[in-house]
Amino acid sequence: MTTLFLKNADVLVTMDADRREIKDGGLVVRDNVIQAVGTSHEVEAWLAGQPDALPPDRTINAGGTVVLPGLINCHHHLYQTLTRTVGTGGGMVLFDWLKTLYPIWAEMDSEAVHVSAKVGLSEMVLSGATTVADHLYLFPNGATLDDEIRAAQEVRVRFHPTRGSMSLGESQGGLPPDRVCDSEDHILKDSQRVIERFHDPEPYSMLRIALAPCSPFSVTTDLMRESAELARHYPLVNLHTHLAETKDEDRFCLEMFGMRPVEYAESVDWLGEDVWFAHMVHPNQAEIKQLGHTHTGICHCPTSNMILASGIAPIREMLDNRVRVALGVDGSASNDGNHMLGEARQAMLLQRVGWPGFESRADRLSAREALELATRGGAQVLRRDDIGSLEPGKAADFVAFRIDDLTHAGGLSDPVATLVTCTPSRVWLSVINGRIIVEDSELQALDLGSLIERHNQISRGMLERAGVG
Ligand code: ZN
Repeated sequence: MTTLFLKNADVLVTMDADRREIKDGGLVVRDNVIQAVGTSHEVEAWLAGQPDALPPDRTINAGGTVVLPGLINCHHHLYQTLTRTVGTGGGMVLFDWLKTLYPIWAEMDSEAVHVSAKVGLSEMVLSGATTVADHLYLFPNGATLDDEIRAAQEVRVRFHPTRGSMSLGESQGGLPPDRVCDSEDHILKDSQRVIERFHDPEPYSMLRIALAPCSPFSVTTDLMRESAELARHYPLVNLHTHLAETKDEDRFCLEMFGMRPVEYAESVDWLGEDVWFAHMVHPNQAEIKQLGHTHTGICHCPTSNMILASGIAPIREMLDNRVRVALGVDGSASNDGNHMLGEARQAMLLQRVGWPGFESRADRLSAREALELATRGGAQVLRRDDIGSLEPGKAADFVAFRIDDLTHAGGLSDPVATLVTCTPSRVWLSVINGRIIVEDSELQALDLGSLIERHNQISRGMLERAGVG
C-alpha cells in the first residue's frame, strides 16, 4: 500500500454536494482511493491518528496552486489529431467538412489510430483531463478499437472508448462514402467482442466501453435499435451518438425519417440515463424538457460548434430543466485543440453571447459552473459515482494548476474563477488512479518528441495518399 499526502493547496475545490472550497487544502490517497480531504492541518491530524501512523510514501507541497477533481472529457475523436486544421482554417460547415475529411480518414491504419490517440491523450492529460471518452467510428485498413485502448493504457488515463460505427453510405442516402462504412453484422459482432474483452463495470474502473453509432445521417435505424439492445445486456455499457448538431441534420432527419432528431432518438429507444448525446445545439423547448425527464445526458462541445458554425447549444436552459450536461473538446479536427480547461472557458464565454431567441446574458454561465460541467457533470453523464469530486472513497483523480505565475498575476481575488477567466494553462500536477502522471507540468512516462515526429509522418502520408496538400 502506498500513501500520498498533498498539502498547502491555496484552494482545494471538492465539487462535493456542498461545493466546498477549502483554503490551505490537503488530501490523502491510499493506493488509488482518496481517504481524507480537508485543510492541510486536518488531513495531517487524520494521518497521525491512523493505527499504523507511518509517514506518507510521498508528500506534495501544492502551495501556489488550485487543486481540482480531474477533468472529464465526454466527447472526442482522438484520431482527428492527424487532420487538424484541414477545412477549419478557411471555414466549412459540418457536412462539407465531413465530406472533405472522410477520404483522408480512410487512409488510417492501426498504427495511425494508436499514435494519434497517444498524442491526443497526452495533450488532454496536460490540460487537466484524467478521464476521456473517445468516439472512434471508422476502422479502415485493419484498425480496431484495441489500438486506442492500448494508447490509453500507455498514457495511463481513465478511458471510456466508444465503439462507433457507420453503416449508411452514400448509395443508401447517407453522408459518408460507402468505403468507410461497415456491415451491421460485423459492427455488432465487434461491439460485442470489445465489450466482453475490455469493459470493466467495477468501481474505480479504468476502462468502460460504450456503443456509439455515429449519427442519424451515417447509420441505419436498425443499427441504432440493435446497438441499444446489445448495450443493455451488459451493466453500465452506455450509448452515445451525435445528435441535433446542425440545422442541416434537422433537415436530413425530417426528409429521411419524417422526424426531428430527438423524436427520431425516441423512436429507436435512445432516450434514457444510459444515453448521452454530443452537441444538442438545436433542441426546442419541449425537447429540452423531454431530455430532462428521461435523464438523458448531453455533452456540450462549444469550440466545435463555433468552428463549424453549428450554433450555440442552450446549456443554461438544459441545466435549468435538470438535463445532465457534460463537456467535451470534440475534434481534434473541429477544435483543433485538446485542452479541457480551455473548453470550460469556451463554454463559459459562449453561453454569455446572445443568439436568435436568447438575449445576451453575462450571468448565463459562471466560471464555477463551467468547471462543474467538466467535473461533476462529466461523471454523471458517464454514470460514474466514483469520480468528479474530491471526497473520501472516490477515485484518486485530481489535478493542480499553478496560480502564482504570469498568466494569473492580478487574478488572485478569486483563485478558482481565475483558472477559466484567465488564459487556460497547462496542468502542474496530475494524479490518475493514485499514480502521478504529470509532475512539474511534464508527463512522467512518455517521450513526446519521437511521438510527435511519428504522428506528423503518418499525417503527411495520409494527406498525400488522399491527394490533399
Ligand atoms: Zn464529434
